[in-house]
Amino acid sequence: MRTRQRLIDRLRREGIRNEAVLEVMLNTPRHLFVGGGLEHRAYDNTPLPIGSEQTISQPYIVALMTELLLDDRECLDKILEIGTGCGYQSAILSQFAKRVYSVERIRTLQFEARRILKQLGCKNIAFMNGDGFNGWTTHQPYDGIIVTAAPREIPENLLKQLALGGRLVIPVGDAEQTLRIVTRTRTGFHEATHIAVRFVPMLQGRA
Ligand code: SAH
Repeated sequence: MRTRQRLIDRLRREGIRNEAVLEVMLNTPRHLFVGGGLEHRAYDNTPLPIGSEQTISQPYIVALMTELLLDDRECLDKILEIGTGCGYQSAILSQFAKRVYSVERIRTLQFEARRILKQLGCKNIAFMNGDGFNGWTTHQPYDGIIVTAAPREIPENLLKQLALGGRLVIPVGDAEQTLRIVTRTRTGFHEATHIAVRFVPMLQGRA
């Protein structure tokens, strides 16, 4: 628990302001999502490999994206997450939404994420093995959409599935990526660019 507290202190120092997000991260066991003998590094502020050439995101990025997605709202109705990966970000999001809909293209990762999240008692997450470029039309519109793999351009379908006043937080680019925040307004979309980031590429199709 001491290493977890140290990580949270560091995130606060690095500029994460939403105390509710920090509290949830303090209480979420990241080591359960990190396998392959890397558990001892679970509370380092670093991304780690999770197999299938994918990574668990850096804790700072998870905290930042959650904070940006919430935008001072305490709890969202519906969140769409693209890129379940190991499920760590899903676990955090599930505590800030009535329901989280999470899409992952690699079936083996999705299965493992599902198992851990069930073990943790996260009951408000629905999973789909599919291509995130399509979003998840059945449950749209979403108050928040978070993407944890980088496309070259913002996918049109995700914009379409955003509720009025809803926010999309997404890394965009190739070798050089930036985090973008898109808000749906009455007249269209408002886009802002945040920091430079580095995510695995968002790939077309299911695996
Ligand atoms: N959210 C994770 C990090 C995921 S890494 C965490 O909490 O740490 C990015 C994930 O996006 C990978 O698992 C990758 O398979 C997935 N991904 C990439 N392209 C995708 C697509 N088009 N649709 C759905 N998932 C995709």
